[in-house]
Amino acid sequence: MPAAPCERHKGSDMNNHKSWVGGANTPDTDFPLQNLPYGVFSRAGEAPRCGVAIGDEVADLAALEQAGLIAVSGFAAPALNPFMARGKVAWAALRARLTSLLAEGGDPVLRDDAALRERVLLPQSGVIMHMPFTVAGYTDFYAGRHHAENVGTMFRGAENALPPNWLSIPIGYNGRASTVVVSGTPVRRPLGQIKPPEAELPLFSPTKRLDIELEFGAVLGQGSEMGTPLTVAEADELIFGYVLLNDWSARDIQAWEYQPLGPFQAKAFATTISPWVVPKAALEPFRVAAPERARPLLPYLREPGPMLYDIELEVRMRAEGQARDTVISRTNTSELYYSAAQQLTHHAIGGCKMNVGDLLGSGTISGPARENRGSLLELTWGGKEPLTLDGGIERRFIEDGDTLTLTGFARGDGYRIGFGACTGTILPAPALRAAWAP
Ligand code: CA
Repeated sequence: MPAAPCERHKGSDMNNHKSWVGGANTPDTDFPLQNLPYGVFSRAGEAPRCGVAIGDEVADLAALEQAGLIAVSGFAAPALNPFMARGKVAWAALRARLTSLLAEGGDPVLRDDAALRERVLLPQSGVIMHMPFTVAGYTDFYAGRHHAENVGTMFRGAENALPPNWLSIPIGYNGRASTVVVSGTPVRRPLGQIKPPEAELPLFSPTKRLDIELEFGAVLGQGSEMGTPLTVAEADELIFGYVLLNDWSARDIQAWEYQPLGPFQAKAFATTISPWVVPKAALEPFRVAAPERARPLLPYLREPGPMLYDIELEVRMRAEGQARDTVISRTNTSELYYSAAQQLTHHAIGGCKMNVGDLLGSGTISGPARENRGSLLELTWGGKEPLTLDGGIERRFIEDGDTLTLTGFARGDGYRIGFGACTGTILPAPALRAAWAP
């Protein structure tokens, strides 16, 4: 792992890098030259291919490849996996080349060629974003201490809030890769078994307690061999980049099904990620140390340096027909207790093989105060304290037609590193079938 750069790099030296691309130097853009996040896009009727966000544009990597301006090939593919599999030397080389092509004072070959610019730079407003990578496996962790304590208090009482293993293990479960979707994909309210507290037996119903989980996702660009454990430093080297992640959850289905094997249908219906994968390299200046350890970690989990990031997060909610979103939560990824590298280390320590394209969810990120909570379950304390959206609309959980949006950025000196919005709108549950009638 590189030495902790921290404050030094947030300011002057990186900030001198301005881009000649429109919108790239606006202080509130998510996509300055310092970011260069990767995604998969297309225009209507075109095949999806890889691109990089810069200012208001997408730089078409397949077009750059075709023009012979970058040395890496394979960007006509509809997924980042082939590029990620090339490894960190290729990642760094391409990032340096793109920085030069897009920087003021860099290689002018693209800047000074109008016909080429026309082919390579496409307005973001005119493209459709697709899943940026093929998800090989999806594992979701539970590394936010405030979230674990809040949920534990609601489910088991304050005295048993944190499970006994929590301060020693980055606990997690194997989720479903098949239903990880890109931002903007509608999400259908799931059906399932619900057992109301007063009922003796469960009933079959659409979830009545549909929720979000505000998470940070790590994308693996390299794998590991079966039977081969990793150190935390080695695990960090496998991470290509990060996305925002909404781990949609059906709380009533979860409460009935989760013991003893953990969440199943309550989480399997959808997980939404932001369209852009921010490379780990862009986040290096924003590393921060983990909170003080309440219990010493076993040596295999100790961090060799700051492993968390300072990324400001926001959750917005809008009911159908409303003109404006209401901000319902603000928190920070630095509230996590375990880093993605520690989670990955623990994931592989027993011999599990990790693959290119594996996605690791951080677990819900809540902060200490009510307005910092990363799920409706916590924000409304199990539905007991409703939220009020702009216009006076009350919400305990998510209603059909509601749109939930996660955003996040790391704040540098005069620039910020963002992910694009991670958003989804809820569709009504599937119609009940005659074969299911009681
Ligand atoms: Ca989760």
